[in-house]
Amino acid sequence: MEDKIVRIVVLVKIVPKQTTLPMSSDYTVDRNIATSSINPNDYHAIEEALRLKEKNGGEVIVLSLGNISCKTVLKDVYALGVDRIILLSDSIFKGSDTFVTSSILAEAINKIGNVDMVVAGKKSSDGSTSQVPNEVAALLGWNSANNIIACETFQNKVQYEERYEKYDIKRQYDLPIILSVSSEINVPRLPSIEGLLKATKKEVLIWDNCDLEISKEYCGINGSKTQVAGVENVTYSLQREMKVITERKQIVESYRELRRSNVDRGVNCENKIEVINDLTDKKILVFCEVNDGKISNESLYVVKKAALVAKKNDSSVVTISSKLENKKEQLKELSKCGVKINYEIEIDNIYLCDKGEICRDISQIAAGVEPELILFASTQLGMNIAPYFAAMNQSGLTAECIDIDYVDDNYLQRRPAFGGRLIANIFTKNSKYSVATIKPYVEQMDTTYIGEIENKVICSNVSKKQGEIINNNQKYEIDQSIVIGCGNGIHRQEFLELVKEICMKKQYGFCATRELVDKGWVDTNRQVGLTGQVISPDIYIAIGISGAYEHIVGIEQSNVIISVNTNATEPISKVSDVIYEIDSEEFINILAMEEMI
Ligand SMILES: Cc1cc2nc3c(=O)[nH]c(=O)nc-3n(C[C@H](O)[C@H](O)[C@H](O)COP(=O)(O)OP(=O)(O)OC[C@H]3O[C@@H](n4cnc5c(N)ncnc54)[C@H](O)[C@@H]3O)c2cc1C
Repeated sequence: MEDKIVRIVVLVKIVPKQTTLPMSSDYTVDRNIATSSINPNDYHAIEEALRLKEKNGGEVIVLSLGNISCKTVLKDVYALGVDRIILLSDSIFKGSDTFVTSSILAEAINKIGNVDMVVAGKKSSDGSTSQVPNEVAALLGWNSANNIIACETFQNKVQYEERYEKYDIKRQYDLPIILSVSSEINVPRLPSIEGLLKATKKEVLIWDNCDLEISKEYCGINGSKTQVAGVENVTYSLQREMKVITERKQIVESYRELRRSNVDRGVNCENKIEVINDLTDKKILVFCEVNDGKISNESLYVVKKAALVAKKNDSSVVTISSKLENKKEQLKELSKCGVKINYEIEIDNIYLCDKGEICRDISQIAAGVEPELILFASTQLGMNIAPYFAAMNQSGLTAECIDIDYVDDNYLQRRPAFGGRLIANIFTKNSKYSVATIKPYVEQMDTTYIGEIENKVICSNVSKKQGEIINNNQKYEIDQSIVIGCGNGIHRQEFLELVKEICMKKQYGFCATRELVDKGWVDTNRQVGLTGQVISPDIYIAIGISGAYEHIVGIEQSNVIISVNTNATEPISKVSDVIYEIDSEEFINILAMEEMI
């Protein structure tokens, strides 16, 4: 191979335009009814591939899986300057879950041949699971990385920067590789007039299963490893008494009073974890993320969730961690949740390891433990490792679950679907393990039990440190006592900047809805909700936020929710204690008066 990239494939998903998605009888999105567009994040992947091609030469091929109507939407991408577009379309692909989708894409990448790099967008706007690039990589036996904020190639190598919640990490790998890029990596180009003219003369190449020759039983719903068993309506866990205030003077008084009386509340424990004393036949394995020698709160939440499921089906919870500091205290935290065995892999910093090697460690431990269910926290690391591990182990994965339960001898994994208007109940089939990533919430659980826990130290497959920390992202921690969330109802950026200034001065947390992140007004790491962070401040002030379910799941455990909206009947009112029915700019001016003077 020459000293430059020759062939880059960009994975592009065609997504429904509307947020409330039409559903077929088998609980898949009815893509015949939905009007479609290119997944917005994928434009960043196309841009990155074109940028690398302009620098190093080569070819950019867009690869997409979808029904034949996607052809029209895809054709427009020629105007940006890509060389070839291949649409994988066959009726037997319909209903494929992420595992089957990844297998089909991996076959196509093999068929294209001599591919040096695959680039994908970070998340799709409909499913938002971030699974496919990692699963494709595991099936091809390649490396992969997520949430890339910078990338360069040289001498058959790639150097990139990968963003985690707490760190930015710089790594270098040999090609081939699959990278899914953050929207922060570049600003996608617009089509040129020349490009638009050229696009009219080009055709999208269609490959069906005669080209890929995948056995029928591995395609579509039949081959899938997860299946939606049913859907249910969204419900909120806390019912609040909402009060609407419209007068400026009363708003000021109410705000002062709420702020004075609601900071530093106590903890209210609801769910009790009962512990099973002996290791039972059924096991649930939880991968615990360790930061600075300490098990992360997100992972402890998942362990507690696992313990509640274990209570239902008489199983035992076993955990995996990397190297712990202050072991006694850390193991005590696990034993409080009834964990019987922790497998401590001898790795200093899990973030600086090769993903394939960690997944081999986890696979070996899993093979010994033989769990039915394996859980990861839905963090950047969890979302990076879980799909790779699941694909390596031919197992179905449900990403970003908001809950997990044991019903009728099945692990029911619950996640929002169809634009967040419904909750899908998903179970795993045709799989070695059920694998899920769990969105860590802030629900309180009583973990007063202290039992015996055995810590087994395990030698790792990880051969050497991979990468270096270049940034510490502590600045993204937003869960302060008072948090101000901003949404689309703030129309001018200068008012958003004023809110940021107030938060900075008063050490309040600052966050936003996905709308403002997509506009590029707020950094991705400050998004709160289903695909962002989960917070539980004493006071959450939502300014110009409608209260989509995907946002509410990230804030509903706040002690007091104040909503500022010109329309007091928006969905956010259902979870608000008080609604200030005024214009966002007027309220921000009140805030500035109250907080800055
Ligand atoms: C798979 C998936 C995952 C998602 N994940 C997330 C997530 O993690 N977090 C998230 O936030 N969203 C997420 N979303 C997006 C979510 O569905 C909503 O689109 C988003 O939360 C809406 O943001 P918003 O409330 O700022 O905007 P809008 O829905 O546009 O609401 C704006 C609000 O401002 C009010 N308003 C307008 N003008 C004014 C004014 N002058 N003064 C005061 N109020 C005003 C309006 O009445 C309205 O209530 C996700 C969507 C999908 C499909």
